Amino acid sequence: MSIIPLKLSVTNCFLIQTGERYILIDTGYEVDWDLFSRRLQEAGVSFSQISHIILTHHHDDHAGLLNYITKENSNIRVVMSHLAKELLAKGENDNTHPKGCINRRIKALLHLKRFIIMLTLKKHIDKKSNLKFPPYFVRQKDILISGETRFKDIGIDLDGTIIETLGHTVDSITIMLDCGNALVGDAAANMLQLAGTKYCVIGLSDLDEYYRSWQKILDGGAKRIFPAHGKSFPAIKLTENIGKNKKQNMVMICP
Ligand SMILES: [Zn+2]
Repeated sequence: MSIIPLKLSVTNCFLIQTGERYILIDTGYEVDWDLFSRRLQEAGVSFSQISHIILTHHHDDHAGLLNYITKENSNIRVVMSHLAKELLAKGENDNTHPKGCINRRIKALLHLKRFIIMLTLKKHIDKKSNLKFPPYFVRQKDILISGETRFKDIGIDLDGTIIETLGHTVDSITIMLDCGNALVGDAAANMLQLAGTKYCVIGLSDLDEYYRSWQKILDGGAKRIFPAHGKSFPAIKLTENIGKNKKQNMVMICP
């Protein structure tokens, strides 16, 4: 089963083909709209061929284009954790759960990262916050999931399971394909390795829970990890790095 990456400013989205149709994993920042449309065109896929969007979690760099894409094709059904519904309606990243940075070095680097993001999005450099996104209101046709869900059980012709992989946010889910490919959203990442991220994403709500999610991904038979940030990598990296970042090194409250 081929996975087609759509690389946006900071987010990797993915297309998975099922027959004539495509499943889109995640969207991007609102400001990525033109880029997203171009990437889709480059992949030779039209909006009318997308049957579902699976949203790995509600964050601005994943949910920013939901309204745009479902406006192009209102038949698209959005699949998400049942806990994403209210968070999406708010239109901003959840700040009601504790949020920590992975370590002190990263905290310092975050300012640099923000600078890099700003450069990437330089035409919108005056846009202060990237923690907001256009609110999305779940429609009747959308699919809210809880617990482990086989794709066939929600009418998607894919061999795989959606599992809850909490720790980054309370609504994080992972797409586990039976072939061993795991599309994890921010449940793991491959960025800023030099700064000691060790395959963790920068901001976490619960580090222990985050590593428990890695174990679930590994137990589910993952062979290759496709994160939303950074290049794909072999699942053995999770085995090697699980527990490597320590809670006591985390700095609370990321900007
Ligand atoms: Zn996120």
